[in-house]
Amino acid sequence: MRPLPNDDFAPAPWPVTTGMNILVVGVGGQGVLMISKAIALMAQRRGFAVKQSEVHGMAKRGGIVFSHVRFAEEVWSPTIAKGEADMLVALEWAEALRWLDHLRPGRGVFIADTRQIVPPFACRSRKAGAASAYARETPAEIVGRHADGCALDATGIATALGDARAANTVLLGRLSVWLDYPVAEWHEVIDAIVPKGTREINRKAFDAGRAWTAPAPDEDDAAAPAVAAPMPDLHISVAIDPAWCKGCTICVKLCPERCLAMEGPVAVVATPAACTGCRVCEWLCPDFAVTVKNEGVPA
Ligand code: SF4
Ligand code: SF4
Repeated sequence: MRPLPNDDFAPAPWPVTTGMNILVVGVGGQGVLMISKAIALMAQRRGFAVKQSEVHGMAKRGGIVFSHVRFAEEVWSPTIAKGEADMLVALEWAEALRWLDHLRPGRGVFIADTRQIVPPFACRSRKAGAASAYARETPAEIVGRHADGCALDATGIATALGDARAANTVLLGRLSVWLDYPVAEWHEVIDAIVPKGTREINRKAFDAGRAWTAPAPDEDDAAAPAVAAPMPDLHISVAIDPAWCKGCTICVKLCPERCLAMEGPVAVVATPAACTGCRVCEWLCPDFAVTVKNEGVPA
């Protein structure tokens, strides 16, 4: 078993007899591992055997990150096979769809942030106006196909609270509705995992996720489930610092959406509305002249 984040907690006094398989997915930097550590620690406190495994090799480059948490009276394998996850918690919309086949058919719980982080390879055609290959399914379509769950703008909720990075804790709060242990215990677990200076914002984010209620369904669409928020608009900004740009044209040539152009000796953002926030320009600029921000709500 992997070491758990804090062994100071005594297990809860009453053992429980059933366990769960929970899969947490997202991309680098979103806090996937924080969620899985919190679940693992809570399960350990309740007297369960816990196994947690993860892949986060590409985390620093915005790559895929996933973590399996399994707890029960006895657990042998650390990984969850397809179709055997009781819960899927996704911090990014396309990742939620990618892992859907791991949920138990008919009864798995689906919890996802509707945030979109569009990778560069979603733009397969360089033709202006070509359709992106990013997942097109809407939250209402996906949540409606599952027995239980919700899709919410966790990043927007966390941003409104003061820190978009707490979106993972918003989802943890949502998960606690199903994994219904006392809120005070969840707060203790969060305090044990997050840096001291972020405890307050993380507690608030947890409470906000737990208290989240879906917007009223569209009156014109009686079939729409009442558990999915609409996909939020992308709120992306790209800035090029002319003082740092040496006019190499790399970003202009490689932007998949052709958002950038040369204006005299420096690059400028010509069509900001077309930007998907893929960060190719930011990664490839040899002079660190480009800054891309992808926020959950408008600045
Ligand atoms: S401007 Fe930069 S972040 Fe926006 S689509 Fe182009 S390469 Fe991607
Ligand atoms: S890649 Fe950087 S240095 Fe080159 S044109 Fe773009 S912003 Fe300027």
